[in-house]
Amino acid sequence: MNALISVSDKTGILEFAQALHAFGIHLLSTGGTAKLLADAGLPVTEVADHTGFPEMLDGRVKTLHPKVHGGLLARRDVPAHMAALKEHGIATIDLLVVNLYPFEATVAKPGCTLEDAIENIDIGGPAMVRSAAKNWKDVGVLTDASQYPLALAELKADGKLSDKTKFAFSVAAFNRISQYDGAISDYLSSIQQDGAHALFPAQSNGRFVKLQDLRYGENPHQQAAFYRDLYPAPGSLVTAKQLQGKELSYNNIADADAAWECVKSFDTPACVIVKHANPCGVATGTDALESYSKAFKTDPTSAFGGIIAFNRPMDRAAAEAVSKQFVEVLMAPGYSAEALEVFKSKVNVRILEIALPPGGKSDWDNGRNAVDVKRIGSGLLMQTADNRELSIGELKVVSKKQPTPQQLQDLLFAWKVAKFVKSNAIVFCADGMTMGVGAGQMSRLDSARIASIKAQHANLSLAGTAVASDAFFPFRDGLDVVVDAGATSVIQPGGSMRDQEVIDAADERGVVMVLSGVRHFRH
Ligand code: 5GP
Repeated sequence: MNALISVSDKTGILEFAQALHAFGIHLLSTGGTAKLLADAGLPVTEVADHTGFPEMLDGRVKTLHPKVHGGLLARRDVPAHMAALKEHGIATIDLLVVNLYPFEATVAKPGCTLEDAIENIDIGGPAMVRSAAKNWKDVGVLTDASQYPLALAELKADGKLSDKTKFAFSVAAFNRISQYDGAISDYLSSIQQDGAHALFPAQSNGRFVKLQDLRYGENPHQQAAFYRDLYPAPGSLVTAKQLQGKELSYNNIADADAAWECVKSFDTPACVIVKHANPCGVATGTDALESYSKAFKTDPTSAFGGIIAFNRPMDRAAAEAVSKQFVEVLMAPGYSAEALEVFKSKVNVRILEIALPPGGKSDWDNGRNAVDVKRIGSGLLMQTADNRELSIGELKVVSKKQPTPQQLQDLLFAWKVAKFVKSNAIVFCADGMTMGVGAGQMSRLDSARIASIKAQHANLSLAGTAVASDAFFPFRDGLDVVVDAGATSVIQPGGSMRDQEVIDAADERGVVMVLSGVRHFRH
């Protein structure tokens, strides 16, 4: 039996090759790999000696030879194939172990040049992998070190790989090639010749890896599965580790993502409670416990069965407070042992641990998805994600009444939250806490009414609150509703034909009005 080994990532290869040798398998290998094996004392034939052709063109041509591809592609059950091998003195190759030039890692490096990228496009490796994977019945093809143990176990037990494993390896091999070619195509389509990046290339091969099948989709009669980007942003939900609890559902994941993206946007300790994709309570506080207690107060009724996210590790005090309510999913960057103990008996609660992006808030751009995708019938809408943050300096006070520093803080907080509320969004806030959230209505007026009704239900007084509107007030009526409810300061983008009418109304009512100049529709 002949094995051809040609790997760029040499992790675990020596031990694997030693085991193959111990099974009596003859080793063929390319330059660098052959040297590593020979240096360790293994008998190995260089492919160049096997083919009678030297490696050439800086390694661009190493294994592209009929002696290699004939040995991989010949069907052992077709006499004419075997006769052809015999006629040309070609030996069969029964096991192929290849991993490819590190194209993905190369282009991920800052400052990678087009030339570097091109030199890291593997040619002979994928060609061999395709040959072997096509001829899977006769050839075992290994494309990842994680496959070595299974192959060794089967060789040890039966002296050969099972059909099941060979087929699975073949599928994995084609997946790997498709990923690899996708990465090359994505990279080349996204760069111009001068090296600048195009965000929306003419072709997008966005690759996804399946994380799990889901029991069902948004509703029980729908089927569903959960995928992540091939290269997920650090600190995103798809990198979460589930520590306990029932399997995540489709709706759990969608809501968890909404909660996590929102809580990540605060640099002080914060808690976000989400129901049906909308925050029903958001608050900052001195610690996890305080932020949770405030967030819960916004809307205790809706918080029931909520998805709760923290941007600080959960300690016992926070865990005990949260455990008093029915919670579906908990998310935090970490949990103390005591906090986990609190939930031990609540076996259904899904607990996710998600690392925040490594560089903290200043590095959060790295932890954000650059592109936001929405599926429509037979197509996609793509846009840069709504990562726009507002600083105090950008606010434009347009009312006669000037805001106090506290009002400015409250307005900014309300504005931050409104970005994560489905349009039309109206959000009342005070002291780093949501006081009433009106979400997803077709009219801004109704969102304003609902936000104030919700505050009444939660026994919260809106007197002196700050309110954010995710888009401009088309008429003064929406403003009147929030001021009637008790708001004394308002933030909105501005830009309506009737801005002046709305600003005059603010002056008439004696409230602060601040324009953000930015809109945050979310659908
Ligand atoms: P080595 O370190 O053994 O010299 O090279 C191993 C790498 O070469 C593997 O990643 C393998 O996919 C790649 N490779 C094998 N044959 C060829 C070939 O003919 N052309 C190119 N460009 N790469 C090859």
